[in-house]
Amino acid sequence: MPHPAPDPELAAAYLDGTVEPGPLFAEAARLRDLGHGRTITYSRKVFVPLTTLCRDRCRYCTFAKPPGAGGAYLVPDEVLALVRAGERHGCTEALFTLGDRPEDRWPAARAFLEERGHASTLEYVAAMTELVFEETALLPHANPGLMPEGVQRRLRRSNPSLGLMLENVSPRLAEPGGPHHGAPDKDPARRIETIEIAGRLRIPFTSGVLVGIGERTDELVASLFALADLARKHGHLQEVIVQNFSPKADIPMRSVPAPSPRRFAVVVAVARWILGPTANVQAPPNLSTELGPLLAAGINDWGGVSPITIDWVNPEAPWPHLERLEAVTRDAGFDLRARLPVYPEYLDATWLEPRVLAKAAAMVGDDGLVPSPVAVAR
Ligand code: SF4
Repeated sequence: MPHPAPDPELAAAYLDGTVEPGPLFAEAARLRDLGHGRTITYSRKVFVPLTTLCRDRCRYCTFAKPPGAGGAYLVPDEVLALVRAGERHGCTEALFTLGDRPEDRWPAARAFLEERGHASTLEYVAAMTELVFEETALLPHANPGLMPEGVQRRLRRSNPSLGLMLENVSPRLAEPGGPHHGAPDKDPARRIETIEIAGRLRIPFTSGVLVGIGERTDELVASLFALADLARKHGHLQEVIVQNFSPKADIPMRSVPAPSPRRFAVVVAVARWILGPTANVQAPPNLSTELGPLLAAGINDWGGVSPITIDWVNPEAPWPHLERLEAVTRDAGFDLRARLPVYPEYLDATWLEPRVLAKAAAMVGDDGLVPSPVAVAR
């Protein structure tokens, strides 16, 4: 009997464990194979933490630091040094991750920007991604938080794709004691607005959900349906990340347990079911000890993996060596291939600026994937 079409109530029942998930996993794997065959991709990246200052106070965050305690900006030479190291290790993506609008909270941030003639951190991001685009062999992918239309227009000139995690659609998570209390940039309506703007501007976009931060099952399901709606409406959602919360000793949520591997695999399978066969569904390989269940749950991408920089968002969890990732992927019956920060289906002039398309196209083979072998210098 065919599996039912995506349905919020059945999704919640799978997630709550009141319906046995065997048929869900079979459907998720079928959908993935239908859309992507037996190829699993990853992006060979270098992490550029442009600033660890942030105006927000997410209760699960270990990335943001105050001035004097690790909160700082990278200067252009530091950005270039990181990206050049990525060049030497065969990376193709420079992932810019940073705190949101630190200048609204920290005088030190305002002083840094003023000294360099930038009105905002977002303007500095644009300047630095332009620098990386012009001066290095890598493609930038900026993930700088909320982005108004003018900023996205400018970033499109040097970034083949942009990103913003939706995390969750529930405003309840910003109530006192919640994970997003004191984090104005985590307002779900404003995040959806940023993703909508990208759709209207035809910018390939990465988003996703953060699982295990205190959301209810119905809120998680609603978040996945919201992403599916955005993907249907604009066609620009190039990938959906399903990321599991990971507790750390230095965060307010240090005693909140991570989602169990079993539940997380069900979340991934539900995501594939809701998002459909052609969606690129990704789960980070450094946040799960067993990777086989994520493949069985319907992912087709491992996301960014760096041979040289740490995961600044989850510094306690190093990425697996690419040889291990390749072995796990192969043992499950798949090929592991490197991709750019923009997926092959978006490599055309309707999605990319001419100069960005020209640079990206020169980095891939006929299938839109990076032809180099998995293992290069490390
Ligand atoms: S998770 Fe992002 S927005 Fe929240 S405090 Fe950390 S850096 Fe800022």
